[in-house]
Amino acid sequence: MRTGIIGLGAMGFPIAINLYKAGHLTGVWNRTRAVADTLATQCNPLNIASSPAALAAQCDLILICVSADADVRQMIDEMLPVLAPNTIIVDTSTIGADTARAMAQQVASKGAQFLDAPVSGGVEGAKNVGLVMMVGGDAAALEKIRTTLQAIAKRIVYMGPSGSGQATKAVNQIMAAGINQAVTEALSFARAMQLPLEKVIDVVGGGAAGNWFLNHRGATMTNNHYAPGFKVALHHKDLAICTRMAHEANLPLPVTEMTLIHYEKLMAAGYGDEDISALFRLKKSSKE
Ligand code: NAP
Repeated sequence: MRTGIIGLGAMGFPIAINLYKAGHLTGVWNRTRAVADTLATQCNPLNIASSPAALAAQCDLILICVSADADVRQMIDEMLPVLAPNTIIVDTSTIGADTARAMAQQVASKGAQFLDAPVSGGVEGAKNVGLVMMVGGDAAALEKIRTTLQAIAKRIVYMGPSGSGQATKAVNQIMAAGINQAVTEALSFARAMQLPLEKVIDVVGGGAAGNWFLNHRGATMTNNHYAPGFKVALHHKDLAICTRMAHEANLPLPVTEMTLIHYEKLMAAGYGDEDISALFRLKKSSKE
């Protein structure tokens, strides 16, 4: 299957490398050309397309990994005029379920398929083929491309019709907000109790409250290192999508709403590009 990828950011770049290593990568396009040139130093030879439409014209399967709803819309708008029937577009970006459904309709008007396929597992998962992918759209289209997707994701789960992948990702992001609040609050308490933080992370991480975030971010955050990982600004974008979806369902999300306020404080202080564990910055005792 001739496969292309649009968007070579923190996630798209390692995804492209894994597609290349598996022999699936036909071409790439990135808005900032220099990033594609950097990829070409690791994946040689690399076909760098001149536009999203030029890439679409060469591929049967196109992955998109860009930032937000408007960016996905723009990519679909640019590809639509040249989209061949039976082309499959897999959007791994985290966007609203409503946008995913609208994109699926537009793409279907060309006889092609759009799958919403957001991923979880972070940059580490993207590098190590450790991503979990939750997919909405046409089940038969997913089965056609499952083998190719296995080059980038360790688990690929079909969730239901268009938008179901993004709705599932929203569940993941709401849970991640709660875990971030719990871990940063608990570790700031440990610090206030003057406990040895490394030992706290080790022993608590091995018990019933242990979790991925504590095990992977506990040591770095308590040493004031907040390199992404998953950027505050991106999680903020995702949580805004979640609250919009919850509002439509008349469901309050208090922890998510509090996390949005906290992230806004971090972004205003210039920490939007740090890892979400930078929430620890806000959890200081007034005695510190
Ligand atoms: P990123 O590092 O900020 O990269 C964003 C990519 O999108 C870049 O290649 C950027 O191109 C491109 N882009 C943005 N706006 C565009 C536009 N209007 N037209 C064309 N290209 C555009 O973001 P990321 O961390 O890779 O995340 C990508 C998506 O995956 C997001 O939806 C994010 O929520 C989701 N995600 C991220 C993580 C994570 O841990 N980072 C985990 C799971 C899911 P330029 O190079 O020109 O800026």
